[in-house]
Amino acid sequence: MTDIPRRDPRTEWILRNRLHPQYDEVVAANSGPVRGPTGLLRWNPHAVGFVGPNGIKRIDRSAGLTGGAGGLSSRAKRRSAQVEVELPLHRIEQPDFYVAVVVDLAGGRLSGHDKDILGQAHQLVKAMEGEGAVVAIALGEAREATFDTAGADRLVHLTEVHGQPLTGYCPEQKLAVLEAVESELAPRYWLFPDSVHGGADIGSRLAARLGERPAVHAWQVDAEHTVCRGGSQLTDWHRPTARVMLLAEECALPIDETRHEAKSIELSSIPRVTPQIEDLGQVEVDPSKIALAEAEFILSAGNGVRDWHQFHTVATALGATEGASRVAVDDGNMPRFRQVGATGTWVTARVYVAVGISGAIQHMQGIGRCDKVVAINLDDGCDMTKRADLSVIGDSQGILAELLRLAEARQSGTESESPAESTEEERHVA
Ligand SMILES: Cc1cc2nc3c(=O)[nH]c(=O)nc-3n(C[C@H](O)[C@H](O)[C@H](O)COP(=O)(O)OP(=O)(O)OC[C@H]3O[C@@H](n4cnc5c(N)ncnc54)[C@H](O)[C@@H]3O)c2cc1C
Repeated sequence: MTDIPRRDPRTEWILRNRLHPQYDEVVAANSGPVRGPTGLLRWNPHAVGFVGPNGIKRIDRSAGLTGGAGGLSSRAKRRSAQVEVELPLHRIEQPDFYVAVVVDLAGGRLSGHDKDILGQAHQLVKAMEGEGAVVAIALGEAREATFDTAGADRLVHLTEVHGQPLTGYCPEQKLAVLEAVESELAPRYWLFPDSVHGGADIGSRLAARLGERPAVHAWQVDAEHTVCRGGSQLTDWHRPTARVMLLAEECALPIDETRHEAKSIELSSIPRVTPQIEDLGQVEVDPSKIALAEAEFILSAGNGVRDWHQFHTVATALGATEGASRVAVDDGNMPRFRQVGATGTWVTARVYVAVGISGAIQHMQGIGRCDKVVAINLDDGCDMTKRADLSVIGDSQGILAELLRLAEARQSGTESESPAESTEEERHVA
């Protein structure tokens, strides 16, 4: 035996190839220092989570509850869960100043866009003198309690104001809350997601109320200088950093290495408003008329769809917009404008259900910004299953039939009926 360090070319090759079936296992086993090409031992400080097949870093938050070939090995899961518990707590006792982030909380959850803005707020805090705190302002019901890991040092969370629930479209009541935050905390910056989910609207209203000129569609921000995208996304405008900013997606990296206190702040008084706007509720829209790029819920078909009539029936019953892989389009089963992917449409759905789609890289590029992906596939090792948040392994025809039965039972109010016996090969992988 000698002390000469030896390199393992096979392990190094697997570590470079994230689509290798043993990638997760090898990454977990090599979580310590790795000997670099110069012979020096090197730590990877970013070794939290793993990189999914679409190239996006993912952290397994299921604390080892999942199984199946698409997930991590049990050792990797244990390590991932452990890493999450060990995230250092970033504590601010007495903030010298605040940076306010008004999150969209679309569907009651923090979106990727919300998390990017929280990350941006921390960058601004770091760039300023003194100890600042990021205060997240969440108006409406929240179904997700991850404000701490998303970077909120302080939290103002209200579901109603003076007995009026903050549901639907109620910008006047929300503005009253923001005015109360302004008078009690006087944030140095106000950051909003520049989005259709409410951020752009409420941010513009606050800017008008404060007499500030907001920076819109800002995508590069530091304490002095801001770059905003304009002119149909073709031009960049440079300007001094404004106090009120409407920020583009991916303006900054979300927080992933610290945990924050998310300490609740009670506002002592919120101005009373008499709403002039009446929300008459949402207008029903035919999902097939929604442009793919704007659809929130997409049922997408690939080469694994066997019964096309059934696929269209299920999409209608679920109220989903239809999408397709290139093979489904090339085979003439779906029109070209339904194609999702690099040479089709890049979609941003909150839920994307891929039926019989293998997950080729060109398809994955198109769904990179979808929030939750569900895979229905025979192959529990395909790339779509690896990317998915939930996978149903089995024949698409049987699974779509069961989905249809459940959707119809829900519509007719008989959903308590016991589900049909699942076939032998059907397995559910979270
Ligand atoms: C330049 C270029 C650009 C491209 N652009 C795009 C693009 O924009 N969008 C795009 O989608 N593709 C694009 N492609 C094609 C892409 O590479 C893949 O060929 C395509 O995405 C595969 O489509 P698929 O997953 O539907 O089919 P397949 O790869 O054939 O996969 C079918 C899947 O269905 C599963 N399956 C089979 N039978 C069943 C069943 N009964 N029940 C359940 N599951 C079943 C299989 O396990 C498999 O995973 C492009 C390719 C090139 C070269």
